[in-house]
Amino acid sequence: MIRNLRNLIGRIRGFGRCLKCGDRWNWKEPHFIVFEGEGMEESSMFPLCDECFWKLPIEGTQGIMHFCNELLTLWIAFGRREFPPDRVSRMLKAMRTNIQKEMFDRDVDLSCKL
Ligand SMILES: [Zn+2]
Repeated sequence: MIRNLRNLIGRIRGFGRCLKCGDRWNWKEPHFIVFEGEGMEESSMFPLCDECFWKLPIEGTQGIMHFCNELLTLWIAFGRREFPPDRVSRMLKAMRTNIQKEMFDRDVDLSCKL
């Protein structure tokens, strides 16, 4: 109920949403995935909220990349930025690497806490 209300407010205000659960960025924490450079905001995307990002353990990197692809396809379709094919393949490669690194770091973190 409260979740629906928050999402409605977010939608009215024009906030984007998590491509998996649909929650809006006015109240949900997005998970930034860097595709170029060193984490500058314009060089990252957030197809998923933080919660959904860490809830894809079975599909792992592949499952998350599915949503990165989806968002990138939307960006290209709406002509939001320039995306020549060589840049797109570089971006996808960088995101895959960064996601794998994050998952690895998280697993190291978890095993240290055991
Ligand atoms: Zn989500």
